Amino acid sequence: MSKSEDNSSNPAEFYRDSISTVNKDGNRVWIYPKKPKGFFYNARTIVSIFLLIILFGLPFIKVDGRPLFLFNILERKFILFGNFFGTHDFFIFVLIFIAGIIFIFLFTAVYGRLFCGWICPQTIFMELVFRKIEYWIEGDRNDQIRLNAAPWSVQKAVKKISKQSVFLGLSFLIGNLFLAYIIGVDELFSIVMKSPSENPEGFTVVMAVTGGFYFVFASFREQACTIVCPYGRLQSVLLDRNSIVVAYDDKRGEPRGKLKRGEDRTKGDCIDCKLCVDVCPTGIDIRNGIQLECVNCTACIDACDEVMVKIGKPKRLIRYDSLNGISLGEKFRISPRILTYTSFLLLLLGLITYLIFSRSDASVTILRAPGTMYQEQPGGKISNIYNLNIVNKTYEPMNISLAVQGLKSEIKILGEDVSVDGQQVYEGRFMLILEVKDIERISTPLIIDVYNGTEKLSEIKTSFMGNPELKNQ
Ligand code: SF4
Ligand code: SF4
Repeated sequence: MSKSEDNSSNPAEFYRDSISTVNKDGNRVWIYPKKPKGFFYNARTIVSIFLLIILFGLPFIKVDGRPLFLFNILERKFILFGNFFGTHDFFIFVLIFIAGIIFIFLFTAVYGRLFCGWICPQTIFMELVFRKIEYWIEGDRNDQIRLNAAPWSVQKAVKKISKQSVFLGLSFLIGNLFLAYIIGVDELFSIVMKSPSENPEGFTVVMAVTGGFYFVFASFREQACTIVCPYGRLQSVLLDRNSIVVAYDDKRGEPRGKLKRGEDRTKGDCIDCKLCVDVCPTGIDIRNGIQLECVNCTACIDACDEVMVKIGKPKRLIRYDSLNGISLGEKFRISPRILTYTSFLLLLLGLITYLIFSRSDASVTILRAPGTMYQEQPGGKISNIYNLNIVNKTYEPMNISLAVQGLKSEIKILGEDVSVDGQQVYEGRFMLILEVKDIERISTPLIIDVYNGTEKLSEIKTSFMGNPELKNQ
């Protein structure tokens, strides 16, 4: 059965029945993309250099001896712009996550997969680092096809070993970069500088991450985008006919046909040279329409522009445009969906900004110890036991003291004095003692001031259990 027969609903869309990297038998079809060249490829190279400098430089930037960014998911410690965030800030992360999702919806609705082609580290490393090295060592598409088909020789072995060695070295570098964002450069250096026998766990992690990246960039390649990446899978619901995508102008290009010398051409501008297919790193034919596999890398735009120049036709037969832009000649317009997403996004960003900047240095929780009542104390006094939890969000140690507002009171910390090191959590108990004469009801509301030295950190509202009848005894 042919592909077109498989797609009974719309035979014209046969290409949606399969992916270009897997053949009918389910085996991998290795893609040999032709080396792109042109305006967009040059622009992407410049952007990628800029992004790679940032990516590799950020872990080394420190503020007061601490990293500017750290994403230690293992210990749930995060540093953003030098500020420490922990599990106590979980709600901020949830909001950032929600804002991120909405941003992706909005961005994709307007600009399609622009992120994939220009910013995504997978594409940058694959297409603008590993692929360039491959071209450099093995040559362009046809050279690579010939080399792979050729019997083993010294020259082939040298090329293959050289390429894989560079790939492995680069994967080690990227693996270490990845870990630097999680555990910090200092910790990473201490792992890397030790012999494997001194730190077998650290060595195993570094090697496993290196192996993972080597597998992705040397073997798995474009399938990370076309099969695994959830963002790619979401395209079908995020894009609409007004989204900007890399698209082929079929009104101008069709009917396609080979260019014959001296021909009085009545066909469309596409000369069916298939260069746009040859350069595509995901192996698709953009002339079929927008497809999930397209990572908007723009290689086909450059390839087709070069052809158009050669045959004396206007550039941009393949271009950034919306489907409505191509079929109806419509200009981009702000749709109600875009307005809704933007409103939500701005609201969330405002809330997140407020939460980050109004964040206190410490998070303090005081709760009456569960299951306890009041205790009678000698001298006409009553005590309650409280649980005290303090999260020090700063990098400096805190010496905590407590005082009850407006009441004569005594506070006894049960255990050692409350001192909390930077980024640490204290959990303990204290006893609050009040005079019976100050007790007016069973549950007396009160406010406890929490100090770090002389600086008031927060005011905590709680209650004090006691029997006012005791003052009559
Ligand atoms: S590169 Fe341009 S002219 Fe050549 S097949 Fe693709 S769309 Fe047609
Ligand atoms: S169709 Fe064009 S833009 Fe899309 S992945 Fe292929 S070459 Fe890149």
